[in-house]
Amino acid sequence: MQAQSDIVRKDLVLVGGGHSHVAVRRAFGMRPEPGVRLTLITRDVHTPYSGMLPGYVAGHYSFDEVHVDLRPLARFAGCRLYHDEMVGLDLANHQVLCRGRPPVPYDVLSIDIGSTPDENGIPGAAEYSLPVKPVDRFLAGWGVIERRVRSTAGTFHIAVVGGGAGGVELTISLQHRLAASCPAAQVQFRLFSETDRILPTHDTRVRRKFIRILSERQVSVHTGHRVTQVTDEHLTALHAGAVLSFPYDALIWTTNAAAPGWIARTGLTTTADGFIEVDDFLQSFSHPGVFAAGDIATMRNHPRAKSGVMAVRQGPALAVNLRCASKSEPLVPFLPQHHFLALISTGDRSAIASRGPLALEGTAVWRWKDWIDRRWMERYRNLPSPNGKITAADLPTEGAALSEISALAMRGGGGGPKIARTVRARVLARIPIASRADVLIGIRDADDAAVVEVPSGHVMVHTVDFFRAIVDDPYMFGRIAANHSLGDIYAMGAQPQSALAIASVPFGPEAKIEQALYELMAGAAVALEESGAALVGGHSSEGAELAFGLCVNGLAERGQLLRKGGMRPGDRLILGKALGTGTLFAADMRRQARGRWIDAALESMLQSNRVAAECLLLHGTHACTAVTGVGLLGHLLEMIRPSQVDVEMELDGLPALDGAIDCLALGIFSSLQPENVRLRRAIRNLDAAGGHARYPLLFDPQTAGGLLASVPEANSAACVAALRRLGYTQSAIIGRVSEPGDAAAPVTLVL
Ligand SMILES: Cc1cc2nc3c(=O)[nH]c(=O)nc-3n(C[C@H](O)[C@H](O)[C@H](O)COP(=O)(O)OP(=O)(O)OC[C@H]3O[C@@H](n4cnc5c(N)ncnc54)[C@H](O)[C@@H]3O)c2cc1C
Repeated sequence: MQAQSDIVRKDLVLVGGGHSHVAVRRAFGMRPEPGVRLTLITRDVHTPYSGMLPGYVAGHYSFDEVHVDLRPLARFAGCRLYHDEMVGLDLANHQVLCRGRPPVPYDVLSIDIGSTPDENGIPGAAEYSLPVKPVDRFLAGWGVIERRVRSTAGTFHIAVVGGGAGGVELTISLQHRLAASCPAAQVQFRLFSETDRILPTHDTRVRRKFIRILSERQVSVHTGHRVTQVTDEHLTALHAGAVLSFPYDALIWTTNAAAPGWIARTGLTTTADGFIEVDDFLQSFSHPGVFAAGDIATMRNHPRAKSGVMAVRQGPALAVNLRCASKSEPLVPFLPQHHFLALISTGDRSAIASRGPLALEGTAVWRWKDWIDRRWMERYRNLPSPNGKITAADLPTEGAALSEISALAMRGGGGGPKIARTVRARVLARIPIASRADVLIGIRDADDAAVVEVPSGHVMVHTVDFFRAIVDDPYMFGRIAANHSLGDIYAMGAQPQSALAIASVPFGPEAKIEQALYELMAGAAVALEESGAALVGGHSSEGAELAFGLCVNGLAERGQLLRKGGMRPGDRLILGKALGTGTLFAADMRRQARGRWIDAALESMLQSNRVAAECLLLHGTHACTAVTGVGLLGHLLEMIRPSQVDVEMELDGLPALDGAIDCLALGIFSSLQPENVRLRRAIRNLDAAGGHARYPLLFDPQTAGGLLASVPEANSAACVAALRRLGYTQSAIIGRVSEPGDAAAPVTLVL
């Protein structure tokens, strides 16, 4: 039974993974607050550290050196990570509205979503310029510009709008990068500033240094130029009463920070320019319990220029106040400094230090800046051992099938008290379930069981799966679990018809249980809706942990049924998706997986096998299965044995999810892997193959894995090409079926 202190009583929701919130999660990871559950809603899983961004642009750092990976940090803090974007707030009902998932309720809310450059309604600016934020989109857009520079024969004109420290630093960093990446290119930079001086918030001495550097590097500086219009090739600027036009090939926008327009419509008190107005505790003036920090917040009593330094400084104070607010304790005021030290790089591993009248320049300043920045990043990369080491219970049991239920029930995981009928009724009322003519008695009918009509000439296919959550986002888990369960139906060549859900939700106050059940079911409903299956009933209970499964049935025309046992010598083996979910999620638990690897694995798990199954049927597939918990080799053997054939499989050809090989190389395996490895005796040339980097992939348990099919050789290349066109981009031919040889060891690995 879960300890009373582990029961979730308050939901602290953090929106945005910016500079202040990384400190909050570190603080809660170091000292968790009993009963307080953290959830991070973030648009990006890798968040850039502003101090190193110009150095990254200039080519001095790698992507990982300048981005905080929010997934391991979330794990460290015991914080759920919802990869989504806030698009609004329902303040009356205490809910964050997201782009791609149901609203997220909060007890305490904190917003740190940064800002974007102000386009100030200038016609054409939004359409034709590349804003420096969001940074990921800027970097992608810059990649395109770089390619255009490379392929341009004459001079390439880059205009940068914004003469603050960010604009100046970015201009000389981009110039430095191009000198290295496109040495033969002729590039002319033009910097436009509305103010009559660049770096207007810095001292004259600092300004002079930058004016000298820009002049040495032949950057044309146009101060006192107010850009008024942008077309696809020209920008128009007003200067001393004259209207001037400048041609450009690429236009970069890095003006003052602006808040997203929707913030002002949330009902929170905002400043005239749309930022959330907060008090000395970083709490909203209008809505106690809602906090904001970083660029998106303006402290009414202590307004400061928007900067990463300010956001960083606010982090620890914000953490203290979020903790206090969660416990209804008095808040602690935060008084920001008036002057910050700014270390502004000059593109070439040199920098200028600026604070008040101080202006120091040189490579030593860069080394100092580099040391400070790297030390900051280290705080979020090399996290201390988690509070309470990872235990066996923390490790994932991906793709665990029915056999796991008994073990779970023994731990009290699946057999807790039933969730109250009223809670279930409320949840079901919130989930859109379309009525279907063939469902005679369904989930909304108060009967003992569901009744579904079956057309004649068809056979009914049944399958069940149930497993513990591999992600801490119930909505995402519901979608993945449903997709996983549907895989077996597709592998049989059947169409899903109806599903029964089995859910176990962690103990807690009724409202928390209801929300978890709702998110789980809402996620499952999305996947079921896509499949055309009706959710006709289910069973839910409280348990020690989140677990979910579905019992799905489908219909197939009698002659169309695909079996495991139809492989024929000469066939090619086709695998529909890349392997590696087991090792990746085991690594995620240990904070060893990169956020983008997990993102890609989640995307793969959310991809339905429906279209792949249709494609395989069209290409005359003889046998098929869905790869799940027993791993590739286990499933292959289940096909080989009834088919009485041998198989040659190419290890090099096994498609792997990003990062899977790295995680395996670190010796990180799913807890189900050892069970799967027992099947290795079926490999004829085991001794030779054992050291191959992809060998452990054979045993890696998959959640919502791809289809494995035996396809006539003549159709196999066309089949893979079609699968790739249909979005199964990593599908591949991984081997061939041969005449039976050694029944005890029917698999030969081609090295
Ligand atoms: C080129 C350049 C160089 C700079 N250099 C410096 C410098 O050297 N020093 C300095 O102090 N400042 C610098 N700045 C300013 C600095 O980048 C910002 O002040 C700082 O990033 C603000 O931090 P933040 O925490 O408010 O937001 P951010 O760091 O922008 O983080 C916001 C986070 O919220 C997420 N997010 C955004 N919208 C949503 C949403 N709707 N829902 C969910 N998540 C969302 C984003 O994915 C991101 O992770 C520079 C700016 C630029 C453009």
